[in-house]
Amino acid sequence: MIPKPLRQVLHSESYPLPRHFVVSNEIGSSQQEESTTALASSLAEELNRFLPGLPNPAKPESSEKPWSLNLSLEPIEDGHPEAYRLELEHGKVNISAADSKTLRYGITTLKQVLFEASQSGDGFIHKQSITDHPRYSWRGLHLDVSRHIFELDFIKTYLKLMSELKLNKFHWHLTDDQGWRIESKKYHLLQEISAWRTEADGTKYGGYYIQAQIREIVAYAAELGIEVVPELDLPGHVMAVLAAYPDLACQPQAFETMSTWGISDDILCAGKDSTLDFILNLVDEVAELFPGSYFHLGGDEAPKARWQECPLCQSKIKELGLQSEEELQSWLFDTVSTALAKRAKTVIGWDEILEGNPRPESIVMIWQGDGKAAALRAEEGGYKAILVPNHYLYFDWKASESGPGAFGVTSQEKVYSFPAEEYFCRHPELLLGLQANLWTEQITNPERALEMLIPRVFALAELAWGKASDYPEFAARSTLWEEYLNYALSR
Ligand SMILES: [Zn+2]
Repeated sequence: MIPKPLRQVLHSESYPLPRHFVVSNEIGSSQQEESTTALASSLAEELNRFLPGLPNPAKPESSEKPWSLNLSLEPIEDGHPEAYRLELEHGKVNISAADSKTLRYGITTLKQVLFEASQSGDGFIHKQSITDHPRYSWRGLHLDVSRHIFELDFIKTYLKLMSELKLNKFHWHLTDDQGWRIESKKYHLLQEISAWRTEADGTKYGGYYIQAQIREIVAYAAELGIEVVPELDLPGHVMAVLAAYPDLACQPQAFETMSTWGISDDILCAGKDSTLDFILNLVDEVAELFPGSYFHLGGDEAPKARWQECPLCQSKIKELGLQSEEELQSWLFDTVSTALAKRAKTVIGWDEILEGNPRPESIVMIWQGDGKAAALRAEEGGYKAILVPNHYLYFDWKASESGPGAFGVTSQEKVYSFPAEEYFCRHPELLLGLQANLWTEQITNPERALEMLIPRVFALAELAWGKASDYPEFAARSTLWEEYLNYALSR
């Protein structure tokens, strides 16, 4: 199983693998809500779609009788909010958890238990009990759809993969210099101009998700217990925006959506009221599409050369009594954060936001190097944080010396060796969790995206859940899990 459960007790008794599950009438369904009953049948259906393709050498007469699936929505004594318990005995599986999202973890685990038993040869499954909960509440996976855009079907496969690994935050990097990927009803040039770039060979590349598609993905993710966290990257990485709305720059001119990779000096002018209006309107429109608690505003790689020369930015700094351009960026974030707070959303920014003075509730996404320096700064400042250090958790990096990818090598073993416990030692409560990023400059299609993810994403899931084994033991599970995934993703 991946991630490995905290506690699994196996008994010697074993039974022929089930061929079918029915939701038991015993589950206090009388006192439970109708929605719980609907949830139970949908989870049972999922299991029943999963079972038929498994090798099952047991004689049909010994395993034909359906097993009963008992689901209870009640906190288990473990006390952890994301804890679940699974008990498997003859003809019956009981799963308990405090909410539907966590109940699903029990089903995911059950699928893996069934799969493993089906691979064991005799088609028998042991009586057992599993008690489990994750170490970190943030178990994220990111996808950059700006550098290359992906079809809705692939985004759904991505989410399904996450769900099989009990990853729960999908960080959707929707905007960057090379393309804007989300429809705006208010600023339609974003989809008419910003969503497109001209490649070196003269071809047009681009596209965007209409709002109905965004809603469809958010709803699909919610069914799987995954929160979608949108990112609109500000105030840098906005060349696509400036191509459509050049007046938002400090030095307006004819900009183009970038078709090469790198960092641009042109960023949004923080000294113009029109820029702030644009950002606030846009964030408001986008926030409406994402019901979750977080909103990522980027904040990375925004050189301040233009702001240093811009009279409007400089007079804004004076007017606000700020000390530097970095503080001006913090003020910009602060203003947007205040608007988002009214929608009960907390702002996340890349670790460059620590160069200013971000408001106390900001969450820092730590990405540079091994992340140690930024982690110390965040800890000293009392900021909550998510670890995505590029030396370990950037999956656009090569997985092996000879493999495809950018920059250095982050092998699966290196990912697995990430010493998360060495960060935030004094204030572990500030560390929300871990995430891996998939930047797509060099990833042009779904096949390559999956190749970069698998198997490293298994190591991420295990780290985020709370690594409970050594690497060789994990590597053995990882091999079987690739087979599991091939089987599970198609059902
Ligand atoms: Zn300016």
